[in-house]
Amino acid sequence: MTIVGHLINGEVRTDAARTQDVFNPATGLATKQVALAAKETVEEAIAAAQAAYPAWRNTPTGKRAQVMYRFKALLEQHADKICEMIGDEHGKISHDAAGELQRGIENVEYACGIAELLKGEHSRNVGPGIDSWSEFQPLGVVAGITPFNFPAMVPLWMYPMAIACGNTFVLKPSERDPSSTLFIAQLLQEAGLPDGVMNVVNGDKEAVDVLLSDERIKAVSFVGSTPIAEYIYSTANANGKRCQALGGAKNHAIVMPDADMDNAVNQLLGAAFGSSGERCMALSVAVAVGDAAADALVAKMKEAMKPLKVGSATDSSNDFGPVITRQHQQKVVGYIDSAEQDGATVVVDGRNPQVEGFEDGFFVGATLIDGVTSEMTSYQEEIFGPVLQVVRVDSMEAAMQLINDHEYGNGTCIFTRDGEAARYFSDNIEVGMVGINVPLPVPVSYHSFGGWKRSLFGDLHAYGPDAVRFYTKRKTITQRWPSSGVREGVSFSFPS
Ligand code: NAD
Repeated sequence: MTIVGHLINGEVRTDAARTQDVFNPATGLATKQVALAAKETVEEAIAAAQAAYPAWRNTPTGKRAQVMYRFKALLEQHADKICEMIGDEHGKISHDAAGELQRGIENVEYACGIAELLKGEHSRNVGPGIDSWSEFQPLGVVAGITPFNFPAMVPLWMYPMAIACGNTFVLKPSERDPSSTLFIAQLLQEAGLPDGVMNVVNGDKEAVDVLLSDERIKAVSFVGSTPIAEYIYSTANANGKRCQALGGAKNHAIVMPDADMDNAVNQLLGAAFGSSGERCMALSVAVAVGDAAADALVAKMKEAMKPLKVGSATDSSNDFGPVITRQHQQKVVGYIDSAEQDGATVVVDGRNPQVEGFEDGFFVGATLIDGVTSEMTSYQEEIFGPVLQVVRVDSMEAAMQLINDHEYGNGTCIFTRDGEAARYFSDNIEVGMVGINVPLPVPVSYHSFGGWKRSLFGDLHAYGPDAVRFYTKRKTITQRWPSSGVREGVSFSFPS
């Protein structure tokens, strides 16, 4: 069976003291194995990145950008192959995989502008004959640890900008769908990156713990679930590293009584069930304001969900694919069971979808649950499956209170025609990314991405302008060239 390996110092290797099966989630069959890096392998990758750093740091910014331009062209050239790899291991349908890749490429495009982004700040004559400027220098070797749900896009949030800034990189992707991530890193190598600048180690906690403790790693970017994000953040910080750790989510959409209900339903369908709900920005709770809005929403959703097709990534007419593992399928079904046991009504039940020819796949059908309340476990925890829960409230204030009280604060949306209500919402909601009639307000590549509360640990968001700051450290230089023959007197006062 093929073993998906590592990329270290420009070479693909399969050091595999331990391996793990990689499944096609539509068939339920193990199709490959992934090598799980031991400590020594991760240390080799770090050493390669460390050795490549001095020359890469001093490579002119324009030349670093040229590698990114070539990388972008290669990503576009190989888009179909990448989407197929994502489909085989993640299960998402090709149109969805293409969207993921496009959003990833946009981060490469942003990194192409690195010369402009790194210009720094300059002030002339801050004192008599004294000039001062701030420049942004790379950190050294930095690491990324990424989740299964966007094997192309989320790594591309990190390393193009880190590398364009002059750092070298060690990426530890998800071990559940590693092939597209490794292939994309090889394309970057092919784009002309010197050996050792970009390294990939596949693995699990053992590999991650090396990245968190090795003193050569200066910063860690993490995206994944909240318990792991918290662990990564506290461990990296305790070891003196800069860290940003993006975690899980529970994204609410408020449906106001004045909303265009047909539009809201269309938007909710894609945002709740697209990619099987396995998106950190998926809308998983619809908060309907007033019973009339709630009844209309539930009735229209029920009707609109009838033609939805769950199935294999190989059929592009499917709306969404399987979830990632058998264990995760059981977990999602367990949440639907628990909502029902807690007194909610399962209006559309996706617990036993029939997918002809794929009977052993990890499928969950689109599910709609009404009458959910904030005490229920299914409301409090992230389900990460194709499940939309409806909570009924009687005012916009109550809807906002619900969202503000939730431990997560990644994304949210309001469906309304009332501009005043929308403005009040965006001003006062305790969430990092807000949509006004936009269900998935994922920021474009030249803004930054991040949630609030327990959806992000750290100060700086991912990609965009924050990434330039995250992957560099500021140095401020103050300079005077005294005229020949002029001597300053001694002064013990603070310079002013
Ligand atoms: P995960 O937390 O299980 O894994 C993420 C990464 O951490 C993987 O590389 C994994 O190998 C590693 N890891 C897992 N357990 C570890 C441990 N005990 N110690 C050290 N490392 C460990 O997440 P996942 O299931 O791959 O991804 C889904 C989660 O990611 C969801 O919670 C989703 O909301 C979240 N997510 C968040 C964002 C965001 O931007 N906020 C984006 C995408 C996904």
